[in-house]
Amino acid sequence: MNVSPQHLESYLSGRWLRGEGIETTLVDPVTGAELATASAKGLDLQGALGFARRQGQAGLRGLSFAERAKLVGAVADALAGKRARYEEIAIANSGNTKADAAIDIDGGIGTLKYYARLGQNLGDARLLLDEKPVRLAKAENYQAIHLMLPRRGVAIHINAFNFPSWGLWEKAAVSLLAGLPVLAKPASATAWLAHEMVRDVIAAKILPEGALSLLCGGAGNLLGALTCDDVIAFTGSADTAARVRGHPDVVAKSVPVNIEADSINAAVLAPDAAPGSASFDAFVREVVREMTVKAGQKCTAIRRILVPDERADIVADALKAKLAAVKVGDPRQGDVRMGPLVTRGQQAAAFEGLRRLAAESSFVCGSLEPPALDGIDRNRSAFVAPTLMRTKDAAAAQAVHEVEVFGPAATIVPYRDEADASTLVARGGGSLVTSIYGEDKDFLARIVSEIGPGHGRLLVVDPSIAGAHTGHGIVMPQCNHGGPGRAGNGEELGGLYGLRLYHQRLAVQGSTELLARLQASAASLH
Ligand code: NAP
Repeated sequence: MNVSPQHLESYLSGRWLRGEGIETTLVDPVTGAELATASAKGLDLQGALGFARRQGQAGLRGLSFAERAKLVGAVADALAGKRARYEEIAIANSGNTKADAAIDIDGGIGTLKYYARLGQNLGDARLLLDEKPVRLAKAENYQAIHLMLPRRGVAIHINAFNFPSWGLWEKAAVSLLAGLPVLAKPASATAWLAHEMVRDVIAAKILPEGALSLLCGGAGNLLGALTCDDVIAFTGSADTAARVRGHPDVVAKSVPVNIEADSINAAVLAPDAAPGSASFDAFVREVVREMTVKAGQKCTAIRRILVPDERADIVADALKAKLAAVKVGDPRQGDVRMGPLVTRGQQAAAFEGLRRLAAESSFVCGSLEPPALDGIDRNRSAFVAPTLMRTKDAAAAQAVHEVEVFGPAATIVPYRDEADASTLVARGGGSLVTSIYGEDKDFLARIVSEIGPGHGRLLVVDPSIAGAHTGHGIVMPQCNHGGPGRAGNGEELGGLYGLRLYHQRLAVQGSTELLARLQASAASLH
C-alpha cells in the first residue's frame, strides 16, 4: 500500500482538529515504514465534552430506541460499503492477515448490526423497565418499579491497540442505542483505522451533531474534564486500567468506569478426552487458532493450556506439529497465516514476558529471538514466532498465572486431577474466558460450577458442538464480555444487558396508576 504519512486529526466539537506536534508515529510492523502521525496536544477537551453533552445529548435523547437503532444500522451500512479500504489499513498498520482483519472489521460491523436489530425490537420506548412492579405496603395502589434511564453525559470509550475497529464499534453500538453521545479514544499505535472509519461515518452525516467524537493522540487531561454524568468504558492493560480507575477526578466525582483488562485465559482438556477423540482434536485446533490468530494479540487468547499429566507429551507433540505448519511472514502474501505483532515495543514486551516464563518453563517451540523470515528485516519488523512452553513444575510455577505475554505464546500446564485443574485455572486471578473440551457431561457441568465464578465467559465444547462453536476467543455480542479480578471486573455486551452501563437505575415509588403510565412508555430489559 503506497501512502505518504498523514497526520490523524481528532473530531471534536463538530470539527476536524489537528493537535500540536507529534505524539505517536504509526508504523507498518513488517517494514517499519511510517504510515501516519497522531497528536491530541493542545486540543480543547473540556469544550469538546461540553459540545457532546449539549448537542449530542439533544440529538439522541429525543429519539426512541427504534429510531436510534436505525442510526446504528446506518453506521454499519456506511462502514460495510468501505470495507476494502479498512482491510488495507489493518494489514498495513496492524500487520493483520485478511482473516485477522475480518475479525476486527466485520466483528465491529456485525456488532453494530446486532444492536440495530435488538434496538428495533424495543420500538417506540425511551426508557427501560428493569423489574415488574412490587407492592410496598398494605395499600394496594402504592407500589414501586425499577426503571433504567439514559445518563445525561458522554460515554468515554478508551480502546486498546489490538482492535481499532471492533473495540470502537462494540462500545459505540451500545451507547448510541442507549442515547449517549460517544467520545472514542483509540490507542495511538493503530488509530488510523478508527480515524478512517469515523471520518466515513461523519462524512455520511448519519448521526446527530455531537453524537460521535474522536480523539486521536494521548488522553491528556480527558479524565480530569469528566463529570458525574459521564461514563468511562476502558479497554487496555491492567496497569493503565488502575490509573484510569484511580484518577483523582474520576474517584471524586464517582464517574462510572467499566474496565476490560488483560487476562491469563485457559483451555482445559478434560480427563476423558483421549487422543484421536473429537474433543481432543477440537482442543488442539482451538489452541493453535488462538495462539496464531492476530499473532496472539487478543485479550481473550488462550495463554494456559491445562492437560492431564499423562497427556502432556502427546499434546505438546500435536501442538508443535500444527504450529510448525503455520506460515509466518508478510500478511500481504496470500499463503501467510500469521503476521507480526503490532509494534516493536510490543515485540520487546512479548520477549520480556517469555523471558519471565522461561525461568520456570521450557520451550517446546519458539525462542527468545525473532524468527528469520525471507525478505524481512529483523531490525525493522515486529515478529515473534509461535511459541509453546511447558511448565517444569506446575504446582510451583507462578509466572504462568501472572504474566500475560501479548503475542503468539502459550504454556502447557499439566494437572493431576479435577480438583487440581480447577485450582490451577483459578490462579489466573480472574479471567475473561476459559474453554473446556471433553465428552463426560458430569465433569463438564461440575467444572462450570467450580471455575465459573472466576470468569466472565466459559465455552464448553463437547463433540456435538466441536464443529459448530464460534471459538474460544471470539466475543459474541449476545454474550457477556468481561471478567472478574485482573480482567478488570467489567461487563460489556451480553445483548440488552450491555445497555445497563449507560443507564441510571431508578426505583420509582408511587401510585399504581402513575407507575402503569411510566411502564407503558418503557421497554422491558428482560
Ligand atoms: P494500554 O497501553 O493500557 O492502552 C489502552 C488505552 O489507554 C490506549 O488508548 C491508551 O492510549 C490509553 N491510555 C494510556 N494511558 C492513559 C491514561 N493515563 N489515561 C487515559 N487513557 C490512557 O493497552 P494497549 O497496549 O493498547 O492494549 C493491550 C492490552 O489490552 C493487553 O493487555 C490486552 O490484554 C488488553 N485488552 C483487553 C481487552 C478486553 O476486552 N478485556 C481487549 C483488548 C485488549 P495511547 O495508545 O494513546 O497511549
